[in-house]
Amino acid sequence: MLGRKSEEPVLQRLISFDIDGTLEVGDPPGVIPLTAVRRAHELGFVVGSCSDRPISYQQGLWSEHDVPMQFTVLKQHLLTVRAEFEVGHYLHIGDTEIDQMMAKQAGFDFLHSIDDDMVAFMAEHQLHP
Ligand SMILES: [Mg+2]
Repeated sequence: MLGRKSEEPVLQRLISFDIDGTLEVGDPPGVIPLTAVRRAHELGFVVGSCSDRPISYQQGLWSEHDVPMQFTVLKQHLLTVRAEFEVGHYLHIGDTEIDQMMAKQAGFDFLHSIDDDMVAFMAEHQLHP
């Protein structure tokens, strides 16, 4: 017996990743490995990057590392992401107060990549390699 009715859609989740201080390829490097991002994509999460880095830089980075990001936006454009992807849950992970403010303004939940327990978060969502 499934725990939900078959006609109820599975609510997809979206994660927006800051780069610097958040992901391992950032400057400074963050604690989240790219394997976790790829795993999130495999599990059906909508994943993308949201950074002060120019779009061209972000796209080059994901091309270089072969990471399947579904959006690449500047930090003030999280609302655009929210409008473009209709999912059940929106989350931004970053390392500054600006990240937190932008997330709040766009109606995203926020996790702090340094102050919050990213290892526990990744384990909870089976994102650990
Ligand atoms: Mg950052």
